[in-house]
Amino acid sequence: MTSPMFEKVTFIGLGLIGSSMARAMKRDNLAGHIVGSARSEETRNKSLELGFIDSAEADPAKAVEDADLVVLCAPLGANAKIAEAMAPGLKRGAIVTDVGSSKMKVIEDVEPHLPEGVHLVPGHPIAGTENSGPASGFAELFDGRYCLITPADSTDRAAFRKVVSMWKEIGAIVDVMSPKHHDRVLAITSHLPHLIAYTIVGTAADLEGHLEKEDADIEEMVETNEVVRFSGSGFRDFTRIAGSDPVMWRDVFLANKDAVLEMLGRFTEDLVALQRAIRWNDADQLEDWFTRTRKIRREVVEQPARSPYVDWQGGHRVGPGSED
Ligand code: NAP
Repeated sequence: MTSPMFEKVTFIGLGLIGSSMARAMKRDNLAGHIVGSARSEETRNKSLELGFIDSAEADPAKAVEDADLVVLCAPLGANAKIAEAMAPGLKRGAIVTDVGSSKMKVIEDVEPHLPEGVHLVPGHPIAGTENSGPASGFAELFDGRYCLITPADSTDRAAFRKVVSMWKEIGAIVDVMSPKHHDRVLAITSHLPHLIAYTIVGTAADLEGHLEKEDADIEEMVETNEVVRFSGSGFRDFTRIAGSDPVMWRDVFLANKDAVLEMLGRFTEDLVALQRAIRWNDADQLEDWFTRTRKIRREVVEQPARSPYVDWQGGHRVGPGSED
C-alpha cells in the first residue's frame, strides 16, 4: 500500500463539510491519522462513533500538534479565535487550509496568527446541502463539484500544489482565482440567492399571519397553514435554501458584507425595473427578460461536468496547466 499524502490531518469543525472531507480522505487513503476538533463533546464523540476521525481533541493547539495539514471547517466567524488558539501547536512546514464561503475575511482573520514557516492556502468547495452536523456528511459530496483555491500572492507554491492535489484526489474539479474575485462572484451566485430565499420565506410567513387575522371570522382559515399547504414548486425551492444553517449564513453575510451589498444594489435596481414593467403592462420587457433567463437556466443545466484545471502563477490565472 502506498503511503498517504499526509501523515497527520486535523479538522477543526466536524459538520457537513469537515466530516465529508474527512470521510473522503479516509476512503482515498490520503491521511495516516485524522484528528477532529470541535467545541462540544457531543460533536467529537459522534464523529468518533461515525468513524471518520481517528482521535478527538477539544484544545485546538493540541489538536494540530504534528499535523501536516490543518483544515478549518467551523463557521467563518470562529476562524480568528481558532487561529489564535491553535497557533502555538502548529509545526513548521504545516499547511493550513479552509473551506469558508468568503475568502478575504479568512485571510484577514487567519494569516496574522500563523507562525513563520506555516503556509495558508485558502479554498472553498462549491458543494453542500442544507443539512449540518457530523452525521450529515458523505464522502461523495465533492464528486465532480468545483473547489476554488484562492491563493494570496505570498502563498507557498508547493503547499498550493499539495492542496490542489488533495481536492482532485477526493473528486473535485479545481479552479483558481483571487480571493477578491471569488468574493464578488460568490456574492451573486450563492450569497444573494440565499438572502432572497431567507427574505421571501420570512415575508410569506409574516403575510400568512396577516391574512389569518384579516380572515379571522373564517375559523377554517385560522387553523390552516397555507404557506406550507399550498406551496408551489418555486416556493418549495426557496424553502430548501432558506432551511440552510442560520449560524453559517449569518457569518457568510457578515464576512462578505461589501460584495453582498454591491450585488444587492444591482439586484434591487433590476427588481424595480421589473416592478415598473408589471405596473405599466410592459409585456415585451417581461418576456425579453424571462427569455434571457430561460437561456441561462439551460446553459447551467447543460454545462459540461468538467473544465480544464487552470494553473496559478503569482496570483494570476494562466490557462490550462499541469495537474500535479
Ligand atoms: P456545520 O455543519 O454547521 O458544522 C460546523 C462545525 O464547526 C460543527 O462541527 C461545530 O461543532 C464546529 N464549530 C462551531 N464553532 C466552532 C468553534 N468555535 N471551534 C471549533 N469548532 C466549532 O457547518 P458546515 O456546513 O460544515 O460549514 C462549515 C464551513 O464550510 C463554513 O465556513 C461554511 O462557510 C463552509 N461551507 C459550507 C457549505 C455548505 O453548504 N454547508 C458549502 C461550502 C462551504 P460544535 O458546535 O460542537 O463546535
